[in-house]
Amino acid sequence: MVAPLNADQPAAAGAAPLQALVERARALSEDVQLEAVRAWKAAHPGRIAVGSLPVWAPRELIHAAGGLPVGVRGGGDGVEVVRGDAYFQSYICQLPRSTLELALDGSYDCLDGVIFPSTCDVIRNLSGMWQLLLPGKYVRYLDVPQSLREDLGGRFLEHELRTLRDELGQLAGAPISDDALRASIAAYDAHRRAIEDVYALRAATPWLAPSWELYLVLRAGDVLPVEEHTAMLREYRELAAASGRPMEDQARVVLTGAFCERPPLGLIQTVERSGCAIVDDDLALGLRFIRGDVAPPPDEDPLAALARAFLARGRRCPTMFLPDDAGQAKGEALVEDARRAGAEGVIFAAASFCDPALLDQPMTAKAVEAAGLPSTSFKYAENTGQFQPIREQTGAFADAIKIWSDA
Ligand code: SF4
Repeated sequence: MVAPLNADQPAAAGAAPLQALVERARALSEDVQLEAVRAWKAAHPGRIAVGSLPVWAPRELIHAAGGLPVGVRGGGDGVEVVRGDAYFQSYICQLPRSTLELALDGSYDCLDGVIFPSTCDVIRNLSGMWQLLLPGKYVRYLDVPQSLREDLGGRFLEHELRTLRDELGQLAGAPISDDALRASIAAYDAHRRAIEDVYALRAATPWLAPSWELYLVLRAGDVLPVEEHTAMLREYRELAAASGRPMEDQARVVLTGAFCERPPLGLIQTVERSGCAIVDDDLALGLRFIRGDVAPPPDEDPLAALARAFLARGRRCPTMFLPDDAGQAKGEALVEDARRAGAEGVIFAAASFCDPALLDQPMTAKAVEAAGLPSTSFKYAENTGQFQPIREQTGAFADAIKIWSDA
Protein backbone atom coordinates (compact mmCIF):
# COMPACT_ATOMS: atom_id res chain seq x y z
CA MET A 1 0.00 0.00 0.00
CA VAL A 2 1.46 3.32 -1.05
CA ALA A 3 1.53 6.08 1.51
CA PRO A 4 -0.63 9.05 0.54
CA LEU A 5 1.31 11.98 -0.78
CA ASN A 6 2.27 14.57 1.82
CA ALA A 7 0.79 12.41 4.55
CA ASP A 8 3.11 13.84 7.16
CA GLN A 9 2.92 17.50 6.37
CA PRO A 10 0.44 20.31 5.77
CA ALA A 11 -0.82 20.57 2.22
CA ALA A 12 1.39 22.95 0.27
CA ALA A 13 0.19 25.00 -2.67
CA GLY A 14 0.23 22.69 -5.67
CA ALA A 15 -0.22 19.52 -3.57
CA ALA A 16 -3.50 18.60 -5.27
CA PRO A 17 -2.18 18.95 -8.85
CA LEU A 18 0.93 16.97 -7.85
CA GLN A 19 -1.17 14.24 -6.31
CA ALA A 20 -3.40 14.14 -9.40
CA LEU A 21 -0.38 13.86 -11.68
CA VAL A 22 1.13 11.05 -9.62
CA GLU A 23 -2.19 9.18 -9.51
CA ARG A 24 -2.47 9.44 -13.29
CA ALA A 25 1.09 8.18 -13.62
CA ARG A 26 0.27 5.32 -11.27
CA ALA A 27 -2.75 4.31 -13.37
CA LEU A 28 -0.67 4.40 -16.55
CA SER A 29 2.22 2.49 -14.98
CA GLU A 30 -0.20 -0.24 -13.87
CA ASP A 31 -1.83 -0.40 -17.30
CA VAL A 32 -0.32 -3.76 -18.18
CA GLN A 33 -3.31 -4.59 -20.42
CA LEU A 34 -2.38 -1.54 -22.51
CA GLU A 35 -5.76 0.20 -22.35
CA ALA A 36 -4.03 3.53 -23.06
CA VAL A 37 -2.52 2.05 -26.21
CA ARG A 38 -5.91 0.80 -27.36
CA ALA A 39 -7.37 4.25 -26.77
CA TRP A 40 -4.53 5.82 -28.75
CA LYS A 41 -5.10 3.46 -31.66
CA ALA A 42 -8.83 4.15 -31.62
CA ALA A 43 -8.08 7.87 -31.79
CA HIS A 44 -5.49 7.37 -34.55
CA PRO A 45 -6.95 4.83 -36.95
CA GLY A 46 -4.48 3.19 -39.29
CA ARG A 47 -1.43 4.01 -37.20
CA ILE A 48 0.78 1.38 -35.63
CA ALA A 49 1.78 0.67 -32.04
CA VAL A 50 5.07 -1.17 -31.64
CA GLY A 51 6.40 -2.51 -28.36
CA SER A 52 10.00 -2.92 -27.31
CA LEU A 53 11.55 -5.00 -24.56
CA PRO A 54 14.29 -3.54 -22.36
CA VAL A 55 16.81 -2.08 -22.54
CA TRP A 56 17.50 0.13 -25.55
CA ALA A 57 15.46 0.29 -28.71
CA PRO A 58 15.37 3.18 -31.19
CA ARG A 59 11.91 4.47 -30.35
CA GLU A 60 12.66 7.37 -32.64
CA LEU A 61 12.14 5.08 -35.63
CA ILE A 62 8.70 3.91 -34.47
CA HIS A 63 7.72 7.52 -33.82
CA ALA A 64 9.01 8.57 -37.23
CA ALA A 65 6.75 5.92 -38.79
CA GLY A 66 3.82 7.75 -37.19
CA GLY A 67 3.57 4.99 -34.60
CA LEU A 68 3.32 4.76 -30.85
CA PRO A 69 6.37 3.23 -29.15
CA VAL A 70 5.28 1.08 -26.21
CA GLY A 71 7.49 -0.18 -23.41
CA VAL A 72 6.97 -3.90 -22.72
CA ARG A 73 8.33 -4.72 -19.28
CA GLY A 74 6.29 -7.60 -17.97
CA GLY A 75 3.43 -7.47 -15.55
CA GLY A 76 5.22 -6.53 -12.36
CA ASP A 77 3.38 -7.69 -9.27
CA GLY A 78 -0.03 -7.08 -10.84
CA VAL A 79 -0.26 -10.24 -12.94
CA GLU A 80 -0.76 -13.79 -11.79
CA VAL A 81 1.47 -15.98 -13.91
CA VAL A 82 -0.12 -19.31 -14.83
CA ARG A 83 0.65 -20.19 -18.43
CA GLY A 84 3.84 -18.11 -18.62
CA ASP A 85 5.62 -20.43 -16.19
CA ALA A 86 5.10 -23.39 -18.47
CA TYR A 87 7.46 -21.99 -21.09
CA PHE A 88 10.51 -21.22 -18.98
CA GLN A 89 13.00 -22.92 -16.75
CA SER A 90 12.66 -22.21 -13.06
CA TYR A 91 16.14 -20.70 -12.87
CA ILE A 92 15.68 -17.59 -14.98
CA CYS A 93 14.24 -14.18 -14.15
CA GLN A 94 10.51 -13.42 -13.86
CA LEU A 95 10.11 -10.86 -16.65
CA PRO A 96 9.59 -13.29 -19.55
CA ARG A 97 6.94 -15.25 -17.64
CA SER A 98 4.61 -12.33 -16.99
CA THR A 99 5.33 -10.87 -20.43
CA LEU A 100 4.31 -14.12 -22.06
CA GLU A 101 1.30 -14.44 -19.76
CA LEU A 102 0.10 -11.06 -21.00
CA ALA A 103 0.82 -11.98 -24.60
CA LEU A 104 -1.13 -15.22 -24.29
CA ASP A 105 -4.16 -13.61 -22.65
CA GLY A 106 -4.43 -11.09 -25.49
CA SER A 107 -3.21 -8.02 -23.61
CA TYR A 108 -0.70 -7.26 -26.37
CA ASP A 109 -3.10 -7.81 -29.27
CA CYS A 110 -3.11 -4.06 -29.83
CA LEU A 111 0.59 -4.14 -30.69
CA ASP A 112 1.37 -4.40 -34.39
CA GLY A 113 4.84 -5.64 -33.62
CA VAL A 114 7.49 -5.99 -30.94
CA ILE A 115 11.22 -5.28 -31.00
CA PHE A 116 13.43 -7.55 -28.91
CA PRO A 117 16.83 -5.91 -28.34
CA SER A 118 19.87 -8.10 -27.79
CA THR A 119 19.84 -7.45 -24.07
CA CYS A 120 20.34 -11.02 -22.91
CA ASP A 121 19.65 -14.64 -23.85
CA VAL A 122 16.25 -14.52 -22.13
CA ILE A 123 14.99 -11.73 -24.33
CA ARG A 124 16.50 -13.32 -27.42
CA ASN A 125 14.71 -16.60 -26.65
CA LEU A 126 11.50 -14.74 -25.92
CA SER A 127 11.59 -13.33 -29.45
CA GLY A 128 11.62 -16.86 -30.84
CA MET A 129 8.71 -17.92 -28.66
CA TRP A 130 6.78 -14.85 -29.73
CA GLN A 131 7.13 -15.87 -33.35
CA LEU A 132 5.86 -19.36 -32.59
CA LEU A 133 3.03 -18.37 -30.26
CA LEU A 134 1.82 -15.20 -31.98
CA PRO A 135 2.18 -15.93 -35.69
CA GLY A 136 1.47 -13.08 -38.06
CA LYS A 137 2.79 -10.37 -35.76
CA TYR A 138 5.89 -8.39 -36.67
CA VAL A 139 8.82 -9.52 -34.52
CA ARG A 140 12.25 -7.99 -34.78
CA TYR A 141 15.35 -9.13 -32.92
CA LEU A 142 17.58 -6.08 -32.82
CA ASP A 143 21.26 -6.80 -32.56
CA VAL A 144 23.50 -4.10 -31.16
CA PRO A 145 27.23 -3.93 -31.87
CA GLN A 146 29.91 -5.61 -29.83
CA SER A 147 32.49 -3.14 -31.07
CA LEU A 148 32.26 0.57 -30.42
CA ARG A 149 34.51 1.45 -33.35
CA GLU A 150 32.64 3.58 -35.87
CA ASP A 151 34.08 1.64 -38.81
CA LEU A 152 32.90 -1.68 -37.31
CA GLY A 153 30.16 -1.36 -34.72
CA GLY A 154 28.98 1.92 -36.20
CA ARG A 155 28.50 0.42 -39.66
CA PHE A 156 26.85 -2.65 -38.18
CA LEU A 157 24.38 -0.65 -36.09
CA GLU A 158 23.60 1.68 -38.95
CA HIS A 159 22.79 -1.34 -41.09
CA GLU A 160 20.54 -2.76 -38.34
CA LEU A 161 18.75 0.55 -37.95
CA ARG A 162 18.33 0.92 -41.71
CA THR A 163 16.73 -2.50 -41.94
CA LEU A 164 14.46 -1.69 -39.02
CA ARG A 165 13.55 1.62 -40.59
CA ASP A 166 12.54 -0.13 -43.83
CA GLU A 167 10.50 -2.75 -41.99
CA LEU A 168 8.70 -0.22 -39.80
CA GLY A 169 7.92 1.84 -42.89
CA GLN A 170 6.35 -1.24 -44.51
CA LEU A 171 4.37 -1.97 -41.34
CA ALA A 172 3.12 1.62 -41.22
CA GLY A 173 2.32 1.68 -44.93
CA ALA A 174 4.75 4.45 -45.95
CA PRO A 175 8.53 4.81 -45.94
CA ILE A 176 10.13 6.81 -43.12
CA SER A 177 11.61 10.03 -44.47
CA ASP A 178 14.75 11.71 -43.18
CA ASP A 179 12.70 14.75 -42.20
CA ALA A 180 10.32 12.62 -40.15
CA LEU A 181 13.26 10.95 -38.45
CA ARG A 182 14.89 14.29 -37.65
CA ALA A 183 11.64 15.50 -36.10
CA SER A 184 11.36 12.32 -34.04
CA ILE A 185 14.96 12.57 -32.84
CA ALA A 186 14.22 16.16 -31.77
CA ALA A 187 11.15 14.95 -29.84
CA TYR A 188 13.26 12.32 -28.06
CA ASP A 189 16.08 14.76 -27.40
CA ALA A 190 13.54 16.95 -25.59
CA HIS A 191 12.36 13.87 -23.70
CA ARG A 192 15.92 12.97 -22.67
CA ARG A 193 16.45 16.53 -21.41
CA ALA A 194 13.20 16.45 -19.43
CA ILE A 195 14.25 13.20 -17.74
CA GLU A 196 17.69 14.54 -16.89
CA ASP A 197 16.11 17.70 -15.45
CA VAL A 198 13.94 15.63 -13.11
CA TYR A 199 16.93 13.48 -12.14
CA ALA A 200 18.92 16.63 -11.42
CA LEU A 201 16.15 17.94 -9.16
CA ARG A 202 16.04 14.67 -7.26
CA ALA A 203 19.83 14.53 -6.91
CA ALA A 204 19.89 18.06 -5.50
CA THR A 205 16.81 17.73 -3.28
CA PRO A 206 15.72 14.09 -3.05
CA TRP A 207 13.03 14.83 -0.47
CA LEU A 208 11.15 16.90 -3.08
CA ALA A 209 11.00 14.10 -5.67
CA PRO A 210 10.92 10.73 -3.92
CA SER A 211 12.04 7.88 -6.13
CA TRP A 212 8.88 5.78 -5.80
CA GLU A 213 6.97 8.71 -7.20
CA LEU A 214 9.49 9.46 -9.94
CA TYR A 215 9.43 5.77 -10.86
CA LEU A 216 5.67 5.95 -11.49
CA VAL A 217 6.10 9.06 -13.61
CA LEU A 218 8.83 7.37 -15.65
CA ARG A 219 6.80 4.20 -16.13
CA ALA A 220 3.88 6.21 -17.48
CA GLY A 221 6.13 6.81 -20.46
CA ASP A 222 5.78 3.16 -21.46
CA VAL A 223 2.32 3.84 -22.88
CA LEU A 224 2.19 7.60 -23.47
CA PRO A 225 3.21 9.38 -26.68
CA VAL A 226 6.62 10.95 -26.14
CA GLU A 227 5.34 14.52 -26.39
CA GLU A 228 2.77 13.87 -23.67
CA HIS A 229 5.32 12.17 -21.47
CA THR A 230 7.78 15.04 -21.88
CA ALA A 231 5.03 17.42 -20.79
CA MET A 232 4.22 15.18 -17.82
CA LEU A 233 7.88 15.10 -16.75
CA ARG A 234 8.17 18.88 -16.98
CA GLU A 235 4.98 19.40 -15.02
CA TYR A 236 6.10 16.89 -12.41
CA ARG A 237 9.42 18.67 -12.05
CA GLU A 238 7.72 22.02 -11.52
CA LEU A 239 5.18 20.70 -9.04
CA ALA A 240 7.71 18.63 -7.10
CA ALA A 241 10.16 21.55 -6.91
CA ALA A 242 7.39 23.76 -5.47
CA SER A 243 5.94 21.07 -3.18
CA GLY A 244 7.56 22.42 -0.03
CA ARG A 245 8.16 18.94 1.33
CA PRO A 246 10.43 19.02 4.35
CA MET A 247 14.12 18.24 4.03
CA GLU A 248 15.17 14.80 5.22
CA ASP A 249 18.61 13.78 6.37
CA GLN A 250 19.06 10.43 4.66
CA ALA A 251 21.98 8.49 3.28
CA ARG A 252 22.40 9.35 -0.40
CA VAL A 253 22.62 6.23 -2.53
CA VAL A 254 22.63 5.07 -6.15
CA LEU A 255 20.32 2.15 -6.88
CA THR A 256 21.73 0.10 -9.75
CA GLY A 257 20.97 -3.20 -11.46
CA ALA A 258 17.18 -2.85 -11.76
CA PHE A 259 17.28 -1.79 -15.39
CA CYS A 260 15.05 -4.48 -16.87
CA GLU A 261 12.61 -6.46 -14.74
CA ARG A 262 10.46 -3.95 -12.93
CA PRO A 263 10.97 -3.96 -9.18
CA PRO A 264 7.77 -3.73 -7.14
CA LEU A 265 6.91 -0.20 -6.09
CA GLY A 266 6.96 -1.37 -2.48
CA LEU A 267 10.60 -2.29 -2.82
CA ILE A 268 11.59 1.24 -3.80
CA GLN A 269 9.46 2.63 -0.99
CA THR A 270 11.08 0.21 1.43
CA VAL A 271 14.57 1.38 0.49
CA GLU A 272 13.53 5.01 0.90
CA ARG A 273 11.74 4.43 4.19
CA SER A 274 14.75 2.61 5.58
CA GLY A 275 16.73 5.84 5.51
CA CYS A 276 18.15 5.93 1.97
CA ALA A 277 17.58 8.76 -0.44
CA ILE A 278 17.99 7.36 -3.95
CA VAL A 279 19.80 10.11 -5.85
CA ASP A 280 20.44 8.17 -9.07
CA ASP A 281 19.22 4.87 -10.50
CA ASP A 282 18.99 2.84 -13.68
CA LEU A 283 15.27 2.13 -13.38
CA ALA A 284 14.66 3.85 -16.70
CA LEU A 285 17.92 2.94 -18.33
CA GLY A 286 16.33 2.49 -21.75
CA LEU A 287 15.03 6.05 -21.69
CA ARG A 288 18.41 7.40 -20.49
CA PHE A 289 20.61 5.11 -22.48
CA ILE A 290 21.95 7.77 -24.82
CA ARG A 291 23.19 10.64 -22.70
CA GLY A 292 22.70 14.09 -24.19
CA ASP A 293 21.10 15.11 -27.45
CA VAL A 294 21.47 13.13 -30.67
CA ALA A 295 20.78 16.34 -32.64
CA PRO A 296 21.98 15.34 -36.10
CA PRO A 297 23.72 18.16 -37.93
CA PRO A 298 21.89 19.19 -41.15
CA ASP A 299 24.52 17.51 -43.32
CA GLU A 300 24.51 14.17 -41.48
CA ASP A 301 22.24 11.20 -42.14
CA PRO A 302 19.98 11.12 -39.04
CA LEU A 303 20.26 7.35 -38.88
CA ALA A 304 24.04 7.58 -38.83
CA ALA A 305 23.79 10.21 -36.08
CA LEU A 306 21.65 7.86 -33.99
CA ALA A 307 24.19 5.06 -34.42
CA ARG A 308 27.04 7.42 -33.59
CA ALA A 309 25.30 8.61 -30.41
CA PHE A 310 24.84 4.98 -29.33
CA LEU A 311 28.55 4.29 -29.74
CA ALA A 312 29.89 7.48 -28.23
CA ARG A 313 27.35 8.22 -25.53
CA GLY A 314 25.52 4.97 -24.95
CA ARG A 315 25.60 4.15 -21.26
CA ARG A 316 28.44 1.76 -20.39
CA CYS A 317 26.09 -0.58 -18.57
CA PRO A 318 25.73 -4.34 -17.99
CA THR A 319 23.83 -4.90 -21.23
CA MET A 320 26.56 -3.34 -23.33
CA PHE A 321 29.24 -5.74 -24.51
CA LEU A 322 32.67 -4.16 -24.18
CA PRO A 323 35.44 -6.47 -25.36
CA ASP A 324 38.45 -6.68 -23.03
CA ASP A 325 36.94 -4.15 -20.66
CA ALA A 326 36.74 -6.42 -17.60
CA GLY A 327 34.17 -4.08 -16.15
CA GLN A 328 36.47 -1.08 -16.01
CA ALA A 329 34.47 1.32 -18.20
CA LYS A 330 31.21 0.17 -16.63
CA GLY A 331 32.63 0.63 -13.14
CA GLU A 332 33.93 4.06 -14.05
CA ALA A 333 30.53 5.02 -15.50
CA LEU A 334 28.79 3.96 -12.30
CA VAL A 335 31.26 5.83 -10.12
CA GLU A 336 30.93 8.90 -12.33
CA ASP A 337 27.13 8.82 -12.01
CA ALA A 338 27.45 8.38 -8.25
CA ARG A 339 29.84 11.31 -7.97
CA ARG A 340 27.66 13.54 -10.15
CA ALA A 341 24.63 12.77 -8.00
CA GLY A 342 26.57 13.29 -4.78
CA ALA A 343 25.96 9.71 -3.64
CA GLU A 344 27.53 8.35 -0.50
CA GLY A 345 26.97 4.69 -1.32
CA VAL A 346 25.71 2.24 -3.91
CA ILE A 347 22.98 -0.39 -3.64
CA PHE A 348 23.25 -3.20 -6.17
CA ALA A 349 19.68 -4.42 -6.73
CA ALA A 350 19.54 -7.00 -9.50
CA ALA A 351 16.60 -9.08 -10.61
CA SER A 352 17.07 -12.69 -9.49
CA PHE A 353 18.92 -14.68 -12.15
CA CYS A 354 19.59 -11.56 -14.23
CA ASP A 355 22.75 -12.58 -16.06
CA PRO A 356 23.86 -9.14 -17.32
CA ALA A 357 23.44 -7.43 -13.94
CA LEU A 358 24.93 -10.22 -11.86
CA LEU A 359 27.85 -11.00 -14.16
CA ASP A 360 29.10 -7.43 -14.07
CA GLN A 361 28.42 -6.82 -10.43
CA PRO A 362 31.72 -8.12 -8.98
CA MET A 363 33.71 -5.86 -11.32
CA THR A 364 31.61 -2.75 -10.87
CA ALA A 365 31.45 -3.32 -7.10
CA LYS A 366 35.24 -3.40 -7.11
CA ALA A 367 35.35 -0.06 -8.92
CA VAL A 368 32.89 1.39 -6.44
CA GLU A 369 34.97 0.14 -3.54
CA ALA A 370 38.17 1.54 -5.10
CA ALA A 371 36.42 4.91 -5.33
CA GLY A 372 35.82 4.81 -1.59
CA LEU A 373 32.06 4.27 -1.84
CA PRO A 374 30.45 1.65 0.40
CA SER A 375 28.01 -0.74 -1.23
CA THR A 376 25.51 -3.43 -0.43
CA SER A 377 23.53 -5.80 -2.63
CA PHE A 378 20.33 -7.79 -2.77
CA LYS A 379 18.24 -9.50 -5.41
CA TYR A 380 14.54 -9.08 -6.11
CA ALA A 381 11.79 -10.45 -8.34
CA GLU A 382 8.95 -8.49 -9.89
CA ASN A 383 6.50 -10.30 -7.61
CA THR A 384 8.59 -10.00 -4.45
CA GLY A 385 6.24 -9.35 -1.57
CA GLN A 386 8.56 -9.65 1.42
CA PHE A 387 10.34 -6.38 2.02
CA GLN A 388 11.29 -6.65 5.67
CA PRO A 389 14.72 -8.27 5.11
CA ILE A 390 15.51 -5.59 2.52
CA ARG A 391 14.37 -2.89 4.92
CA GLU A 392 16.72 -4.22 7.60
CA GLN A 393 19.61 -4.50 5.17
CA THR A 394 19.28 -1.07 3.57
CA GLY A 395 18.44 0.49 6.94
CA ALA A 396 21.68 -0.87 8.38
CA PHE A 397 23.50 0.34 5.27
CA ALA A 398 22.08 3.85 5.70
CA ASP A 399 23.08 3.85 9.37
CA ALA A 400 26.60 2.75 8.49
CA ILE A 401 26.94 5.52 5.90
CA LYS A 402 25.77 8.09 8.43
CA ILE A 403 28.19 6.82 11.06
CA TRP A 404 31.12 6.78 8.63
CA SER A 405 30.32 10.18 7.18
CA ASP A 406 30.06 11.70 10.67
CA ALA A 407 33.24 10.04 11.87
S1 SF4 B 1 15.98 -9.28 -15.95
FE1 SF4 B 1 18.06 -9.61 -16.77
S2 SF4 B 1 18.09 -11.72 -17.50
FE2 SF4 B 1 15.93 -11.13 -17.24
S3 SF4 B 1 15.27 -10.42 -19.22
FE3 SF4 B 1 16.01 -8.65 -18.10
S4 SF4 B 1 18.20 -8.39 -18.62
FE4 SF4 B 1 17.52 -10.46 -19.24
